[in-house]
Amino acid sequence: MRRQNLALVLGTVSAADADAPLSRADVAGRTGLTRAAVSSLVDELIADGLLVEAESAPSGRVGRPGRALAVSDRGPCGLGLEVGVTHLGACAVDLRGRARVWRRVERGNAGRPAGEVLAELAALGREAEVEAAALGLSVAGRVLAVPGVVSRATAALAHAEARADLAGVPDSAAAPHAAVERAANLGWEAMDPADHWPWPDAVPEVENEANLGALAELWAGRPAGAVGDTFVHVSAAVGIGAALVVDGRLFRGARGFAGELGHLPVHPEGPPCACGARGCLELYAGEAAVLREAALDPQGADPVTALAQRARAADPHTIDALTRAGRAIGLALTAAVDLVDPSALVLGGAYAELAEWLLPPMRAELAARVRVRPWDADGLRASALGRRGPLLGAGLLTVRRILTDPGARG
Ligand SMILES: [Zn+2]
Repeated sequence: MRRQNLALVLGTVSAADADAPLSRADVAGRTGLTRAAVSSLVDELIADGLLVEAESAPSGRVGRPGRALAVSDRGPCGLGLEVGVTHLGACAVDLRGRARVWRRVERGNAGRPAGEVLAELAALGREAEVEAAALGLSVAGRVLAVPGVVSRATAALAHAEARADLAGVPDSAAAPHAAVERAANLGWEAMDPADHWPWPDAVPEVENEANLGALAELWAGRPAGAVGDTFVHVSAAVGIGAALVVDGRLFRGARGFAGELGHLPVHPEGPPCACGARGCLELYAGEAAVLREAALDPQGADPVTALAQRARAADPHTIDALTRAGRAIGLALTAAVDLVDPSALVLGGAYAELAEWLLPPMRAELAARVRVRPWDADGLRASALGRRGPLLGAGLLTVRRILTDPGARG
């Protein structure tokens, strides 16, 4: 009971508007707990470094005594790590959900040995940890985003279901041996970070990047709450992935393969795909296909930015290529809309930067094909987080675990 009440108090303070912070009395009023109980819980949260209390009463709060409570912006933080096909990233996210340290380096990782890539990433992560420490932050959890299928032991998954907290945040204790089963665009098979990470006591938990992008949208998307609790997040660049959030929870599927949008057939008799099937979405809307149609160099430093520049200059080949890609993504999403009935579809990842050209053909395709249920054109939007989403989500996962179950620490 005390553990639940710790979560209730921390969650209430955390959810308050930063411009109108709560006092102990306010928290008692909002939670229905007694003032004595709230004070005891607040003291414990302050001692744990999770809450801070201002020296004086909030200004302009005449007749409302009490000092302002806030979630600490020092103390524990989440370390996010990311291996992309063309970059590495590391970040530190504080309990207020702000990225206080942000590192991203461009690096071609496709075909490189996992050990080499992870050694480099570990060094980048260590730099981020040192920088976070200088800000008074200490790393409470490490999560690694990868563009691949992540497998979890069945027992661990059952454990996760049993322990899933009220907010549906995936449980850290649930995935001690999560590993990459396949990351086709990196050329990795059966990669376990524990086999490669240079520091055995700091091995990150691995998670699919599209899933983390979706969680970032759920927790940090703007406008807040715009996506609702049930939405589909499309994460596109070199590969096309999707993540389903259902009732505020990530939907992984029976074996963790949910969201393989890139391999939905859009032309059943189309050309063969690397996955073994034919006519998959990725063949029409993946970065390689769009660059080919737009006659752009696939080896260029930042292909998505190059596409945006050409489209802005009204290059007809680029506009055509993006229009065709948008139609193909819209067609594939029709299946998701009819199956899942989401309140929103979000275009995230690097393709969010191409939203101006992708969203109109996507909307047209959805409007033409989603006929048996209401579908509002506004239900499709671009993520404001864009390509920052997965790395931010990796940092936020640890933060959300602390906020939803502070009593699990120590
Ligand atoms: Zn395929």
